[in-house]
Amino acid sequence: MAQTPPPESAPSTDSEPETALETARRQLQAAAEHVDIADGVIERLTHPTRVVQVSVPVERDDGTVTVYDGYRAQHDDVRGPYKGGLRYHPGVSAEECVGLSMWMTWKCAVMDLPFGGAKGGVVVDPKTLSADEHERLTRRFAAELRDEVGPSQDIPAPDMGTDAQTMAWFMDAYSMQQGETVPGVVTGKPPVAGGSHGRAEAPGRSVAIATREAINYYDIPIDDATVAVQGYGSVGANAALLLDDWGARVVAVSDVNGGVLDTDGLYTHAIPSHGNQPAAVMRHDAPNTLTNEELLELDVDVVIPAAVGNVITAANADRIQADIVVEGANGPTTSAADRILEERAVPVIPDILANAGGVTVSYFEWLQDINRRTWSPERVRDELESEMLSAWNSVRSEVDDGDLSWRDAAYVVALQRIGRAKEARGLWP
Ligand code: GLU
Repeated sequence: MAQTPPPESAPSTDSEPETALETARRQLQAAAEHVDIADGVIERLTHPTRVVQVSVPVERDDGTVTVYDGYRAQHDDVRGPYKGGLRYHPGVSAEECVGLSMWMTWKCAVMDLPFGGAKGGVVVDPKTLSADEHERLTRRFAAELRDEVGPSQDIPAPDMGTDAQTMAWFMDAYSMQQGETVPGVVTGKPPVAGGSHGRAEAPGRSVAIATREAINYYDIPIDDATVAVQGYGSVGANAALLLDDWGARVVAVSDVNGGVLDTDGLYTHAIPSHGNQPAAVMRHDAPNTLTNEELLELDVDVVIPAAVGNVITAANADRIQADIVVEGANGPTTSAADRILEERAVPVIPDILANAGGVTVSYFEWLQDINRRTWSPERVRDELESEMLSAWNSVRSEVDDGDLSWRDAAYVVALQRIGRAKEARGLWP
């Protein structure tokens, strides 16, 4: 199996658009200044353990064959098996997977989960695949990654362009090769096939919890809070629905086509999410429509970018009017934008804390798979709530004690845990 060399060190320029790897490395360097951690540990964390590249040949429905590139980046496993999603997207690259795998390492450490970080994917637009092609692609990708993954080695999960069904096919393909059912090889499966209750809504639920805690911290009563959500897929829709249920006024939501705005508050339950009706937000009857760019610049209490990365950049950070940004997507804010928002005293609740509910319920799913024992939906919800509050409180203490941004504080919590583990285990040989 081919191994691509790890990408070279971070560039020194401030140029945008910034790759996920550049953002991740800049964030690591910025946070390292606030932690008492050996330089050698930071140097080790700047590089992934390995990046695997595979070719994934797929027979198309018309009988022709297309070969897709697939990757799995494993960043660090000092605290436990590698963990992170698989994305099917035309923009997937080895470099992007490395950046995203670094975020998974910090995300698992912030949540104090016994996992390291990984990310992978296939360079494909899933909209160009039929359901049968999606299945064949997934089965072959699973076969190519067989030596890299496993319940105590590396545990994939859904990400952009993949879902519970993708994970069921992945688990089945791996299990057929192993000669036994191995539910713990991936998480985010359907509950009927070893998945956990509450996994699908978990990233959105954690974004809602982080938003609730953030507005509480900044003394905004939830009944007075106005919220705009970019992206109405699993993360954005579930966050919007919960915040609406909890009394916040969700004034705008959007999908890839654009958004709808009602300053009196939208009834989010009436808006079809991407999972139910792809790209249907604009068909919802609302007083106003707006572009995705306009949504980000609304004068609201909280803006939640929950679609794709790199949407808040040096070009629009000055125009963000929200009092708080809560990152639902992975990497929605570039490092240049981060600096501008920090200068303008706009707090940014980082992705590695806000959307960490997904990997946290993945951990619950993995525990259920290994113990062959299902948890009730109530238990999943209660344990997620308590894990989120515990992580929130750890990060909040660093914000208060160290006068740090929320992102730096989350990195400090993560890096302290990872650094202590690296020091205790040492460098082998
Ligand atoms: N893809 C999700 C994330 O970015 C979940 C990963 C997982 O559950 O392992 O956090």
